[in-house]
Amino acid sequence: MKLCRFDDNRLGRVDGQKVRDISAALDALPEMRWPVPPGDQVISNLDMLQPEIENLTTHAPVLDLAAVKLLSPVANPSKIIGAPINYPAHIDEAIADPDLKQDRTIKTIADWGLFLKATSSLVGASEGIALRFLDRRNDHELEFAVVIGKPGTNIAESDALDHVAGYSMGFDMTLRGPELLSWRKSIESYAVLGPWLVTADEMPDPSDIEFKLTVNGEVRQHASTKSLGWNVPKLISYASTHYTLHPGDIILTGSPEGVAPVDPGDVMVAEAAGIGRMEVAIRAA
Ligand code: MN
Repeated sequence: MKLCRFDDNRLGRVDGQKVRDISAALDALPEMRWPVPPGDQVISNLDMLQPEIENLTTHAPVLDLAAVKLLSPVANPSKIIGAPINYPAHIDEAIADPDLKQDRTIKTIADWGLFLKATSSLVGASEGIALRFLDRRNDHELEFAVVIGKPGTNIAESDALDHVAGYSMGFDMTLRGPELLSWRKSIESYAVLGPWLVTADEMPDPSDIEFKLTVNGEVRQHASTKSLGWNVPKLISYASTHYTLHPGDIILTGSPEGVAPVDPGDVMVAEAAGIGRMEVAIRAA
């Protein structure tokens, strides 16, 4: 199932070039009082919502996909986790490019650990990216994205995929410079998740998912998750050695090679096998 959030927080089920408005399923969500539990309530309750979604699908209002405004399919992640340099070819280009390398010694995930992007940086495909600090280099990083479905900490690699709600694509937009990752990568709109969430039952094996980015029609990034240094189960397990993972938490699994600058006016098109296509426009903030 492909689940999207669209327009003014409607819940949709994507079917080809159509979106079925299944927002009525949200009525089944538990009512909440402060303090609300961490995580995203749609993702937390996905199993419970599933039969309601199936019931609604047949009679749900149908809209054209092209006419809806796609928001991040996860509304309330407790964390956006990033994996630094997780493709061998991207490590090579980072070492070769002084803008990427800065004054750092390029090390591995085992040396650096993972990093966090502010949840306030998250937008959906149709919201686009508003670049700041135009006198500096702002790069695209298209990444395969994992959305956690079940809470856990110290999760074994062998159990890790049981903790996944689904998959999506993410942009880990990056301002280049000497500051810490969580500062440069957390600018408003510098995290994009979309175009929707593909539930894990539809993508049981994330180990060879091909994805591609074009900017203004030119291919910039093209890779498969089979080239990940640390694969999806290993990243989930490793993240949970420090963090408790909550439903809706997003793991951006790292950028393949081809990282390059974007400017206001550029249009990025990301495509991934089994997920779909999303168009993200770049503007000046
Ligand atoms: Mn990245």
